[in-house]
Amino acid sequence: MKIMSINAGSSSLKFSLFNMDNEEVIASGLFERIGIDQSKYKIKYGDEQISQEIDLPDHAVAVSILLDKLIDLGIIKSLEEIEGIGHRVVSGADVYGQSVPITDKVINDLIAFKDFAPLHNPAHVLGIEAFKKVLPKIPMVAVFDTAFHQTMDEISYLYPVPYRWYKEYKVRKYGFHGTSHRYIALTLANELNRQDLKIISCHLGNGGSITAIKDGKCIDTSMGFTPLSGIMMGTRSGDVDPSIIPFIMEKEGKNASEVIDDLNKKSGFLGLSEYSSDSRDIEDGALEGKANCILAEEKFVRTVVNYIASYYVLLGGCDVLAFTAGIGENSINTRMKIVEKLACLGFQLDVEANNVRGQLQKISSKDSSSMIYVVPTNEELMIARDTLEIINR
Ligand code: AMP
Repeated sequence: MKIMSINAGSSSLKFSLFNMDNEEVIASGLFERIGIDQSKYKIKYGDEQISQEIDLPDHAVAVSILLDKLIDLGIIKSLEEIEGIGHRVVSGADVYGQSVPITDKVINDLIAFKDFAPLHNPAHVLGIEAFKKVLPKIPMVAVFDTAFHQTMDEISYLYPVPYRWYKEYKVRKYGFHGTSHRYIALTLANELNRQDLKIISCHLGNGGSITAIKDGKCIDTSMGFTPLSGIMMGTRSGDVDPSIIPFIMEKEGKNASEVIDDLNKKSGFLGLSEYSSDSRDIEDGALEGKANCILAEEKFVRTVVNYIASYYVLLGGCDVLAFTAGIGENSINTRMKIVEKLACLGFQLDVEANNVRGQLQKISSKDSSSMIYVVPTNEELMIARDTLEIINR
């Protein structure tokens, strides 16, 4: 059975086509610069890869080309082979606690939630509409980044601000990266054959979030109303005192959105190091002794460790500390620095085992109080699994 997983952005469309019998990717690719000049696509299948510059005036054209190419390249024989399509959706607000079949009501809700994900939700709707137009009969499923976090209690999700803001405007913590954190929780439950785990899941990529998980459910997470809060990230500040915003507005003659833009795009690794948003450059710079890179690296580690420590207390301990996403899966050095700072809680790495990139592996020593794992995330597969499960109901 073949299922397609889609991540539609405002000018892009990323896809993975899975054979769900063995959960392997048959083909994957990216359509870029949709609706602007120099649009192009690339498709990978087996050991082959093709790419082409081609006019992509809108998402529907991109979807038609994608489906034609899947047939032309012999990846599928007919479109009927694709039995379902799962769409990544950033915000399901506080309405969707799990993945759902896409209906007109769901589409209207996604449009209504655009205030909570202004860059993403309208783009997802473009992707959904494009598939509806080209493949009107195929069942589609929405998989929300926020859904996994809907199990937080109000102590976790409410901010200590006027309660009216929550009642009237739904100002609360929503959390993001939920599909990734859910994948980590499921993978560890399968790996350890235990459902009753206290997990601290660290998704450390260009964007990053940390989630406290108990018995497979999210208890708290570091991102909030938007993906700007929590730990320091590639270009995002993470948590800062909001009074900085009017202060900088005044100093630099900017409006609030311009300062928020600075916090989203000019902060984090990039802002503090004045060098790069990419953790590899920061690591290299730190090794060369660049003071600004050392500072950025230390600050990142500190913000991550602070969340881990606070979730350790919230969960009343931790069975597994998990590292995932670009930095979490690949940066041996960053994992070492983080775990070193957690020694007072009994966390201990096995240095040899930690010498690993991008594969599921236990990296804690036998004396560690908690297990520590590297778990490669796979949001696309999680979307495909949900889609299969829902269309089989
Ligand atoms: P993501 O957003 O999950 O793609 O992660 C991007 C981040 O992962 C960037 O900061 C990269 O520098 C980092 N990253 C990717 N590969 C490596 C690697 N081999 N070693 C260290 N960091 C890496």
